[in-house]
Amino acid sequence: MSDEALTILSIDDDPGDAELLRRNLERIYGRNFRFVHARNAEEARRELGGRHVDVTFLDYRLGAQTGLDLLRQIRSSGDLRPLVVLTGQGDEYVAASLAKEGADDYLGKKDLTPETLQQAISEARSRYQRRKTAAEFERQRRLFTELICQAHVELERKSRLDPLTKLLNRGAWAELAISEHARARRYDRDYCILMIDVDHFKELNDSLGHPRGDLCLQNLARCLLENCRAADQPGRYGGEEFVVLAPETDIYGGQVLAEQLRRAVWNQSFPHPASPVADRVTVSIGVAAGPEEHWQNVLDHADQALYQAKRAGRNRVESWDG
Ligand code: GH3
Ligand code: MG
Ligand code: MG
Repeated sequence: MSDEALTILSIDDDPGDAELLRRNLERIYGRNFRFVHARNAEEARRELGGRHVDVTFLDYRLGAQTGLDLLRQIRSSGDLRPLVVLTGQGDEYVAASLAKEGADDYLGKKDLTPETLQQAISEARSRYQRRKTAAEFERQRRLFTELICQAHVELERKSRLDPLTKLLNRGAWAELAISEHARARRYDRDYCILMIDVDHFKELNDSLGHPRGDLCLQNLARCLLENCRAADQPGRYGGEEFVVLAPETDIYGGQVLAEQLRRAVWNQSFPHPASPVADRVTVSIGVAAGPEEHWQNVLDHADQALYQAKRAGRNRVESWDG
């Protein structure tokens, strides 16, 4: 402990008892301490709130409000500073409840001597140090746990996204398709799957370079997002193939959506000088409606429709008609 003068707060409604404490302290510290006396809970709160206090001595019998009530308030306000309760005759049985409420020690007023006082002060101050260390450890533990949780959430989010386009990746999109499929079957609802493939993308890479190809895929992803409804779920299926899951959409609605997307890509006018189809990037789209028995059947049908669109000359929409 430091040799600096301690500030001792006495909370006691009896000025005689407070004076007794002060005199005992004087026998320990001489004039080298500050003594503050609060006669009731209100004064005590003011002193504790506004000043540096090293050790508080709290009278257990504090007028109408017991010292125990005040102790509870002090601790629940987050004030962990050293506090010793002074008990009167016959109050010794309260020791256990005092400790439970956060008192560091208790001393019978009749047992007040410089030695018992010094021991109580020393015990209370070292308990306070341990409490502070434990509180700091707990603070850091919480902070660390919070950081781990955040990192986990972020990792989870990233693991679901395609790094290039920031659309859902194949796995995450498939999870949505499975759940939408189950919902549609349970409630007898429609949904569509669109399979979208860039026409002659290999030639774009070969003629303009891979980075330009990447940029094309990023633009395309944005275009899909901007031209779908909020409930529709675009995803990158792999390479230059994209998918859209459109809930509550029958085959006619799916065709309209697909045509809207094809046209939006066309209107982007992303140059593709090596394409045999047009001077710009185009997509072919296959549409199929569900639910079938399995969601993969719907996906396969969309893929077959896409194949038809490719064979029919590309830059077009075809739907699977069974
Ligand atoms: P089709 O009109 O029949 O679809 O022809 P295509 O050239 O688009 O199809 P193909 O499957 O032959 O080529 C797809 C190309 O997409 C080949 C592959 O290198 C390229 N590709 C796949 N993923 C990426 C990517 O992340 N970035 C870039 N730049 N290219 C990619
Ligand atoms: Mg392609
Ligand atoms: Mg392809």
